[in-house]
Amino acid sequence: MSTVDWPGKLVAVVFLQGCPWRCTYCHNEAILDPRAPGVMPWADVMSFLQRRRGLLDGVVFSGGEPTISLALPRAIDQVRELGFQVGLHTGGPWPRRLTALLSQGVIDWVGLDIKHLPEKYRDVTGAASSGAAAWKSLQAVLESGVDFEARTTVDPTVHTRDDVLELAHRLRALGVRKHVLQEARPDGAAAHHADAFLNWRLTDIVAPEELPTVARRAA
Ligand code: SF4
Repeated sequence: MSTVDWPGKLVAVVFLQGCPWRCTYCHNEAILDPRAPGVMPWADVMSFLQRRRGLLDGVVFSGGEPTISLALPRAIDQVRELGFQVGLHTGGPWPRRLTALLSQGVIDWVGLDIKHLPEKYRDVTGAASSGAAAWKSLQAVLESGVDFEARTTVDPTVHTRDDVLELAHRLRALGVRKHVLQEARPDGAAAHHADAFLNWRLTDIVAPEELPTVARRAA
């Protein structure tokens, strides 16, 4: 249950296992393997939600990367049948899957990770084609007209001040109205990265007055 995963809404968050990327700051390592055992069967999620009809605004599918799951569209339908709005946290690794969901009108809000400039995406995700995929997904989200925010977790080992300023500039130029920066934090990050996240602050890289239109959120 959360009030921060979909700003302004009280939601249940469903974490789906599996992700094609391996981000430097990831704190969900335990569920990156799509074969990782689940802790709650889908039937139990549905009965949990049944008991909270009228009490929650919606359900956010998160991960891992939720669009990796081929069962996601049916799960979304079932949640909507209970009367909940649906939010989606995604990094956009599969633009066609995201476009299909958006064109069906079954997503009410998207939290889209834009992790870096497209040409430098691999520095964060370790995956060569991740930048092209994520920025195509951004185009799909913009074209769909769905309510969304773009989120960037700033990692002092891969993002420079110029990167952050350029990223904010490019997103604004594309028409992104809500862009949120958050700090990579050591909690849950792989040990070889966590040390780098111990004693730094976003303000060490870019001062708030340099990006007055970009929000900042605690990670
Ligand atoms: S996309 Fe998200 S879940 Fe996947 S590795 Fe990156 S931070 Fe972790």
